Amino acid sequence: MTIGILGGGQLGYMLALAGYPLGLHFRFFDPSPEAPVGRIAARVTAEYSDESALEKFGNGLELVTYEFENVPVASVRYLAERVPVFPPPAALEAAQDRSREKQLFRDLGIATTEFAAVPTAEALDIAVQQIGLPAILKTCRMGYDGKGQWLLRTAEDVARVKLEMQAGGSTGSQAANGQGEVPFILERFVSFARELSVLAVRGRTGETAVYPLVENHHRGGILRLSLAPAPRLDAAIQREAEDAARRVFEALGYVGVLAIEFFETDGRLLANEMAPRVHNSGHWTIEGAVTSQFENHLRAVMGLPLGSTNALGSSAMLNLIGDVPESAEVLSIRDAHLHFYGKSPRAGRKLGHVTLRAGSSEQLASRLAELPGFFHRPEFCLEAVLARPVSSRV
Ligand code: AMP
Repeated sequence: MTIGILGGGQLGYMLALAGYPLGLHFRFFDPSPEAPVGRIAARVTAEYSDESALEKFGNGLELVTYEFENVPVASVRYLAERVPVFPPPAALEAAQDRSREKQLFRDLGIATTEFAAVPTAEALDIAVQQIGLPAILKTCRMGYDGKGQWLLRTAEDVARVKLEMQAGGSTGSQAANGQGEVPFILERFVSFARELSVLAVRGRTGETAVYPLVENHHRGGILRLSLAPAPRLDAAIQREAEDAARRVFEALGYVGVLAIEFFETDGRLLANEMAPRVHNSGHWTIEGAVTSQFENHLRAVMGLPLGSTNALGSSAMLNLIGDVPESAEVLSIRDAHLHFYGKSPRAGRKLGHVTLRAGSSEQLASRLAELPGFFHRPEFCLEAVLARPVSSRV
């Protein structure tokens, strides 16, 4: 049985690694000849808009799923006329546009950050009046890992960004998309206590399972460190996250793994965004949960029973971005697991990750402190965790 996957990055790579023990085969579609999955699976290298390549890709596949959320929806719909596609294209459509995504959260009664649409440079002032400062201006489309975002603290920041938009600079060029879509949203800046994410999975029969919430630390808009389960996890907050995931599942007739990222503020959750796919904040599940997010995604889309989402002790996942440590140094730490994605190093690129597992949160705290000097650079965000009182570190 062969599963087709749109996107051939590390998420696809880890999906295939989880699927081989289940007897599955994979065929990938990615425009880049350097896509990491080239090392381990068959692939079609073509633009997503190339219908004859999509046709060839879809031939004989059991089903298609995706690991990249900016695949054009039209290409996914084209495939969906020929072969089953999970999660449903409607999920992709909602997740690709921040204003639609936020509107979906609102419609489903899921608390989200306050926001206003900014269709033109002129509309920025009205949005700022409505939302207040500080605020974050975000492109509705193609923004990821903190790209396409401008923090506006003062009236001067607003005036500068507005001028850029009017001049069609880095911000404004995207305003004129000619499709009548809202190109930006302005969001209230949330002074959150922490960032959390939930990974949930729904099978073809409607069966659902949810992983414990994860605490995430970002630098420069990119995920650096995840702690799972999130320390000091309140049962009510976990329920709130599960409830949000179930609402999205029901509304979209969802099948597969779904990630929702939240800000925790005053003991409440505000949904920031969702990803209709396996997610970086779920990498810890490979060694840290009974069933990994990758295996559960495959089980879900194949219509197989879901596996347990229980955590095995406490885990920390650290992203290797731009450069990598010495393998031996990492692997000399007990229960440290190293993953390389087979990509050539480049600044800002996710090259791999390390998962540290421990039987208890105390043990995990001491393993984190033992990490070699490489991981004590500020971007790994370890200092914030290690500075906490020992009892609540991880
Ligand atoms: P996003 O692309 O929306 O996930 O944003 C990337 C990161 O920027 C988030 O993980 C937060 O750390 C930060 N961020 C995004 N939106 C807000 C907001 N409204 N208030 C405060 N920080 C934010």
